[in-house]
Amino acid sequence: MDLEQIWQSTLGEMEIQLSRAHFATWLKNSQLIEKKNDTFVVALPNSFTKTWVENKYQKNLLGIIRNFDGSVKKIEFVVGSKRFPSPAPVVVAPPDPQGMDSIDLDYKTDPETGLNPKYRLSSFVVGPSNELAFAAATAITEAIGKKYNPFFVYGGVGLGKTHLIQAIGNEVLAKYKGKVRPKYVSSEQYTRDIVWGLRNDRIESIKKKYRDVDLLIIDDIQFIGGKEKTEEEFFHTFNALYENNKQIIISSDRPPQSLPTLQERLRSRFEGGLITDIGYPEFEMRVAIIRSKLEDMNRQLSDPVINLIAKKLRKNIRELEGVLKKIVFTQERKQTEVTEKMAEEIIEKATQNLSKRVSDSQILKAVAEFFNLSVDDIVSHNRRKEVVEPRQIAIYLLRDISDLSYPYIGEKMGRDHTTAIHSYEKINQEINRNPALNQKILTIKDLIYKS
Ligand code: ADP
Ligand code: MG
Repeated sequence: MDLEQIWQSTLGEMEIQLSRAHFATWLKNSQLIEKKNDTFVVALPNSFTKTWVENKYQKNLLGIIRNFDGSVKKIEFVVGSKRFPSPAPVVVAPPDPQGMDSIDLDYKTDPETGLNPKYRLSSFVVGPSNELAFAAATAITEAIGKKYNPFFVYGGVGLGKTHLIQAIGNEVLAKYKGKVRPKYVSSEQYTRDIVWGLRNDRIESIKKKYRDVDLLIIDDIQFIGGKEKTEEEFFHTFNALYENNKQIIISSDRPPQSLPTLQERLRSRFEGGLITDIGYPEFEMRVAIIRSKLEDMNRQLSDPVINLIAKKLRKNIRELEGVLKKIVFTQERKQTEVTEKMAEEIIEKATQNLSKRVSDSQILKAVAEFFNLSVDDIVSHNRRKEVVEPRQIAIYLLRDISDLSYPYIGEKMGRDHTTAIHSYEKINQEINRNPALNQKILTIKDLIYKS
């Protein structure tokens, strides 16, 4: 066997052991490049992948590879010094009469469990921004109610919270075959149920519905904050489940301490479990997500187009997916391979539509409201500390949400464009180091999108 054959056989084994998404993310683009004495040298496309594979798959790979060459004692990983196989030619599928929806497979939510089978842990791409949340989710499926209870996961819009917590439910269904009963509910649905129960004298049966489970998953808890009756009910349900060692999983767009209207006692219950966040995916991860979604859709795009999408859509995986589908759809409709230029235009148009929904004054108003200031304070020349940060955040958001030019933002804020650049850059860097600031910005965005 030559090196190439050994590696292909090894990957073949790994492909069986790993989920599709994981295999595609971590190993698909690997290459065995040489044998140095008793060491095989394997090239991977970037240092992030290298660290991951080294830590997670090294032992496994070595075990398999030794079946093919018993003289090997070690594997050494390097970042892709050698050529990677040139990308496969793009295959254009036949035109699609039903339009864009037919790209998606048809999945239905089960009314009993509230779970949609499309969300699986195996299709959840893992990287630095969600690694901890994913590890906790996996651990929970192995010891329901015993570890990490409650599990509280938070993060911005479109970053995979619903996917992850739904996937836990689906995993549990598959694993315990009906012996463990999961239930997923959005906070809106839960509120509607409680209100309906109270109004129609059926609250006992509603209570039972949510207590007769082994795993309760409640999504977007921020929406029940302030709704007293619902919170009260949830508190009791929470306690009933908790005392019976049932697992509780909660998602939110912000951490418990930033849920302003939530009753203290509920917040401290959340803080008694495991709290993890999901952050923004970095570039390599966005590429991996795109590849995994393309595989799900059974479609292909050229590497430059994939990289372009990953470069342009940074902060919301749902939006990234939306754009990806548009591009795939265009490719099918036109029966030609989408070029970078075409993709650029589609992205441009799609992101413009996204930002058009929000006006400048909505952004300024939301920032003012959050900080208890007036819009005039924010655009004023006042240099007090209390207004300087809100002003920088306003500039950041005008750029981040609406992608406005710096001269335009400068003018809007009564400043020159270098100040606008400086403010944007400052917040943009700080956001990664300072979770409190990140949280403020998420909350303001929430205000903006709700207005
Ligand atoms: P959230 O609930 O945080 O707003 P969702 O869970 O609805 O976000 O995710 C938005 C979309 O992005 C979904 O289609 C989901 O499948 C996809 N997605 C998010 N994170 C990942 C990931 N790590 N791997 C694969 N797909 C993801
Ligand atoms: Mg969600």
